[in-house]
Amino acid sequence: MVICKNGETKRGKVTVTLERGAMTLVVKGVPARVCDNCGEEYLEEKVMTGLELVVKNAAKSGVVVEVRDYAA
Ligand SMILES: [Zn+2]
Repeated sequence: MVICKNGETKRGKVTVTLERGAMTLVVKGVPARVCDNCGEEYLEEKVMTGLELVVKNAAKSGVVVEVRDYAA
């Protein structure tokens, strides 16, 4: 993970769009660090792992397009 050297990151909530094949899953309120210089969003390892599980479960349920809130 490369952190921009020109800005500082602040804790915030972001919306993440995950695509797997034909499925599009939009997850809102994902905790992240956001760079105040370039706006780059950095997700923590455990958050990424959590999102991977969400994607797997959604794919199993046959989700095509869905918007949901992040649940830690
Ligand atoms: Zn930056």
